Amino acid sequence: MSSSLPDNPYILYSDGKGNIFEDTSLYAVGRSGWDALPVPAEDWIALPSGGSLYELPGRRGIGIDVETGQMRLCEKGWAVAAFIPPAYTGLYLAAYETLPDAPTLPLFCYTAVGWLEGQFYTPVVRIEQDIRQEAAGYDNDLIHQGVGAALQAFPHNRLVKHLAEKCCLTYHCPAARNFFIGRWECPVPSSPACNANCIGCISFQPEEENIVSTQDRLDFRPTKEEIVEFTVPHLQTAPFPIVSFGQGCEGEPLLMWETIRNAIVEIRKHTPNGSININTNGSRPAAVKALCEAGLNSIRVSTNSARKHVYEPYYRPNNYVFEDILESLRIVRSYGGWASINYFVFPGMTDSVEEYEALRKLIIDTGLSMIQWRNFNIDPDWYLGKIGIHDTGEALGIKQLMSLIREEFPNLKFGYFNPPAERISGSYEEDFAHS
Ligand code: SF4
Repeated sequence: MSSSLPDNPYILYSDGKGNIFEDTSLYAVGRSGWDALPVPAEDWIALPSGGSLYELPGRRGIGIDVETGQMRLCEKGWAVAAFIPPAYTGLYLAAYETLPDAPTLPLFCYTAVGWLEGQFYTPVVRIEQDIRQEAAGYDNDLIHQGVGAALQAFPHNRLVKHLAEKCCLTYHCPAARNFFIGRWECPVPSSPACNANCIGCISFQPEEENIVSTQDRLDFRPTKEEIVEFTVPHLQTAPFPIVSFGQGCEGEPLLMWETIRNAIVEIRKHTPNGSININTNGSRPAAVKALCEAGLNSIRVSTNSARKHVYEPYYRPNNYVFEDILESLRIVRSYGGWASINYFVFPGMTDSVEEYEALRKLIIDTGLSMIQWRNFNIDPDWYLGKIGIHDTGEALGIKQLMSLIREEFPNLKFGYFNPPAERISGSYEEDFAHS
């Protein structure tokens, strides 16, 4: 529900034992870069279904005193943030002061949140109508039936076993669960190695770091046969089918390009259906070209920024540079394919004036098809500290940034998920609210 709220939501705090309370002496505010600031009333919406709340140990929430109008800390407990569900993009981070010795926060997004009249509110926008990862859409009985059937149908397939036991039943990966329900986007991890060293890598964190990766990285190289065996039936039978290489439980799929190329060639011998996509760091344009030759339909290149000097300190690339990821996007467009960026949104950084100018240039230079406005799953202080950003500069506001980009590039699509072939080739909005 979006509305100009009758009043500003109140700040939340936790007792450190998982119990959360509102403090009606303080209004909740948001964070952009290193700054705490008021959130416009029209930006608060009720916390969408599937959202959850986090208590932030070693951190005191910042709010506006209801009486004095001054900003001050909430000393009653730890700060609280919202983890917002897929399809929504956060406009402001949670605002807090980090106390000395506070632990680094795990790899989730920390969006502002408040409480008013019996409801949690958070400043986010729904950026995608596609319902493929709506929490309410998952039926556990159907998922378990699907897992059982797939393991029976493909008894010797290590990848199906990995997707079943690890991705679906352990990590509860939305894409893996959709595969076992026989619908939409099917994940195909393939690479145990990576040629980048992202600070916030979700599949590998160095021993010396005091946070853990949210998934373990794949520990084998699947064969072409293992990939083709379950992806062809998925493309032939699933509604709005997509096969997506490059998942959170692996390294960089382009390091496995020969196997992926051979799999695409084999898949297309059996079916023309659906879209074959790769989620990647875009590091190897020549490999991307070979995949396009084989029949790749779309690419999604992940990035924390359209600026080289912000990208490289985060990705810490081995043997590639920022310009390579731009070239990979261009190549897919030159083959008529769909090119998206998986844009890690960080209020204060993503909407800085400098980033806006760089993003405009990236869109023009690459002929980009789509921006997937993803929430950056990382401890904000840790991230800015690690990439050496002490001043994020003037910020436009995420909403303002989105409307400026939409106005200048009317054909550029906004979303959160890789589009199915039906979307790529035709009617984009109306058909797929219920894809
Ligand atoms: S590109 Fe992906 S797998 Fe590689 S380090 Fe970055 S997040 Fe991890």
